[in-house]
Amino acid sequence: MVDLKTQYDRIKGEVDAAIAEVLESTQFIKGPGVKKFEDSLAAYMGVKDVISCANGTDALQIAMMALGYQPGDEIITASFTYVATAEVIALLKLKPVLVEVNPDTFTIDPAAIEAAITPKTRGIVPVHMFGQAADMEAILKIAEKHKLHLIEDNAQAIGSEITLSNGHKVKSGTLGTVGTTSFFPSKNLGCYGDGGAMFTNDTALAKQIRIVANHGQTQQYVHDEIGVNSRLDTLQAAILNVKLKYLDDYAARRRGVADFYDNAFKGLANVQTPARAPYSTHVFHQYTLKLSGTNRDEVRNRLSEKGIPSMIYYPIPLHLQKAYKDSRYKEGAFPNTEQLCKSVLSLPIHTEFEPEELEYIAETFKQIVQS
Ligand SMILES: *Cc1c(COP(=O)(O)O)cnc(C)c1O
Repeated sequence: MVDLKTQYDRIKGEVDAAIAEVLESTQFIKGPGVKKFEDSLAAYMGVKDVISCANGTDALQIAMMALGYQPGDEIITASFTYVATAEVIALLKLKPVLVEVNPDTFTIDPAAIEAAITPKTRGIVPVHMFGQAADMEAILKIAEKHKLHLIEDNAQAIGSEITLSNGHKVKSGTLGTVGTTSFFPSKNLGCYGDGGAMFTNDTALAKQIRIVANHGQTQQYVHDEIGVNSRLDTLQAAILNVKLKYLDDYAARRRGVADFYDNAFKGLANVQTPARAPYSTHVFHQYTLKLSGTNRDEVRNRLSEKGIPSMIYYPIPLHLQKAYKDSRYKEGAFPNTEQLCKSVLSLPIHTEFEPEELEYIAETFKQIVQS
């Protein structure tokens, strides 16, 4: 699905030098490269503060801890997402309130958010699915009206840009109270291990996030609250410092792949190519299409026989997962989400395709779905 080796080979000189510098310094934790990366990413995102941490799941958890939620507080998120989003809500003894998504953009439906708000609701977690932002302007209005926090799960869409109706352009993950991301190797900005970060324009919240991420420590060996230990190590920061320069180029390459697939699949009766929202650029973390009137497992098997991997993101919606079962959600509760889980298929997408490889994947896929 991805080709991290070729990507590494193209920047090997820079990456190896950056790693060697950290090894020589032996400042493996909190080395100067960590702050340098946080500052560079803040400048790229156009946000006041970036706080790095150990992974994208921690980023969500630390953000919610820093916002001071109390057990039983309700947090609204989409049922069609990666499990981490709801997992941290439940872990903190908050109540995940799952809602429906837009069937074309795969992102949380603003009307469904509004309908799910109760006096206990404290926050909304829109997920910028597969590389494009949720309908943030509509969601922002709802959050302001009901005085709710917005925690943007930007793990799949770092680098995508939202155009507001006043014409202003902002990076996804920077409009809400706090945004989070993951540097898992296969993410659009991936390191060579685990990593994550939070973004915010709220200086007081940034300070609180740093306290929570560092054992709740306010001064050395003074702990006013319970925190966690979650750090981006200096080696990963050094690698990310190199890769951040290429993030826009990587997004352009991914978009090129998506354009190629879109064009190749035009007119296929049983294939719906990914919709592009008018308010957000798409950085194509995944190229996820919808199949109809064809057996998805069979399509996958036949692709696999031809050496082409494919994936289903995600086969089971959160509201039908055993861990998140709740009497509120029966099968049929979220028809769009359930239909997506039955019909989506993701094809390989990354930054390193040779034209012949793409041609082969597209032609093979076309033959399979047409026969
Ligand atoms: C990858 C991902 C995460 C979690 O990131 P990790 O670094 O693996 O913990 C959270 N949310 C979404 C939507 C993701 O895609």
